[in-house]
Amino acid sequence: MKNYYLVDEKRKTPITTWQKILQALKRSIKLELFVGLWVVMREMLKRNNSATIKYPLEKLQLDNRYRAVHRLMRFIESENERCIGCGLCEKICISNCIRMETSLDKDGRKKVNNYSINLGRCIYCGFCAEVCPELAIVHGLEYENAAEQRSYFGYKEDFLTPIDKLKQQVEFEGAGSLRKDADLLVKKTPNYYDAMQNKALEDQDQSSQGEVK
Ligand code: SF4
Ligand code: SF4
Repeated sequence: MKNYYLVDEKRKTPITTWQKILQALKRSIKLELFVGLWVVMREMLKRNNSATIKYPLEKLQLDNRYRAVHRLMRFIESENERCIGCGLCEKICISNCIRMETSLDKDGRKKVNNYSINLGRCIYCGFCAEVCPELAIVHGLEYENAAEQRSYFGYKEDFLTPIDKLKQQVEFEGAGSLRKDADLLVKKTPNYYDAMQNKALEDQDQSSQGEVK
């Protein structure tokens, strides 16, 4: 491996224009140049070799974990809003762009009167969806939300699934949803391990009694 360069002390600095042209030609016309040109030509002439798409005529297929504009979900059976107004999403938001107003209804339950997200400030980090204990706020796939103003607010009615479209609301699998194997990852209580141990002992006793008979 060559890790040093020998300085050509005898090389003369070109002075006249002709000498300069000669030096430029000597340096440019080398085989490496044609190798580079061949790579460019080959890639240029390949069919369907584009790394870009013709947006907005063509659109990319997004992964369902893509984090675009939020959606507020409802329970499909009862049509109620999932959000319980706990305020965790508002607290965790690092851009400070979620605002909500809650009140207590006649049963003493929290009711979300107003919910807004300043989509001009949101950085789509997904923390609000991750922290939501009710899976009420999730990230949808709607990313075309350009606005004329920097502070562009989305309100509860913009995010919440409309009642007439509730049948189209599917259990969300994207950012903020539960993993498919979530049940397996739940840490069991100490009582669960005691019960399992007792059951194992009982099974052992029964099998040993069976052997004695
Ligand atoms: S995605 Fe991040 S920045 Fe946007 S509202 Fe949620 S927590 Fe805030
Ligand atoms: S964290 Fe979820 S349940 Fe709590 S206020 Fe936000 S959206 Fe509603």
